[in-house]
This record gives sequence, C-alpha cells and structure tokens, in this order.
Amino acid sequence: MSLEESMRPGKLSQGGFLGENEKLEDVLKADDETVRRLGLTHKKIAARFQYFIDAVAYPTGSGVLVDGKYLVGGSVYRGGQECPWQDGGLFMPNSCMDLYVVNQQTGERLNFPGGIVHLIHVHHFYEGKESPYRVDPERAAKILEIK
Ligand SMILES: [Zn+2]
Repeated sequence: MSLEESMRPGKLSQGGFLGENEKLEDVLKADDETVRRLGLTHKKIAARFQYFIDAVAYPTGSGVLVDGKYLVGGSVYRGGQECPWQDGGLFMPNSCMDLYVVNQQTGERLNFPGGIVHLIHVHHFYEGKESPYRVDPERAAKILEIK
C-alpha cells in the first residue's frame, strides 16, 4: 500500500488523512504556500499546538482557561494513531487525544487531534481538505494567534 493509499478513509484511520480523491502532493503544496504567505513556519505552528497540549496535560470536556483567554479541553481515549510515514514509534505523540481551543475573545473554536503536532512539525501536513481531522493553518493561525 502506498503512503497516499494508506491515508484514504478506512485504512490507517477511519475518517482518513486524505479524502478519496485528494493528492497528497497537492495538499502539501497548498498548505506550504499558505504558511509562507502568512509569514509563519510549520515549526512555529506545531510549537503553538504543543504549547496548548502541554498547558492542559490531561484534557477534559469542560476545559481549563489558559493565559486567561483560551479555553482548552478535549478527550483522551485508549490507543493512538500511527503516523502514515511510519517514522518513529508505534503511535504519534499525544495521538490518544482530541483537543479543542476556544479563543474567548472571538468565540472561535478550533478542534484538532493531538497527533497533528507531529504531522505538522515533521511532515508539514495538516491533513487533507476532505479529512474530518484537518486543521486549516490559516484558521489555526487566527484562533491560536500564531505570530
Ligand atoms: Zn511521521
């Protein structure tokens, strides 16, 4: 099974890292262009997600207030998610978590899987536009105030 094939729905993940017809190369290219246009780097974005994960340690449904402004919570389940690139360990770090951040000033909410930190940091991947787990870099930059 090719890397791209393993990312389709029902393979490594039920919802899929990519939609049925998306091309990995196109997704990577478009998001890379967006991140450059925003004047950011993938590392900086990944670090911001990690910051919120570290701030809550163990996410709960009701969430906790971080920096007096961001409500951060989520849920933890058993197991985890394998990285499609199959680098490193069995599961991606923090991939047993689904998290959310609500920016209390704007009321906007961002949902993301814990494994996204690894995917962004190492692979510059935000998941496909048709994936239910996608984290749009532009929305993330706005809601998490990444500068
Ligand atoms: Zn990986």
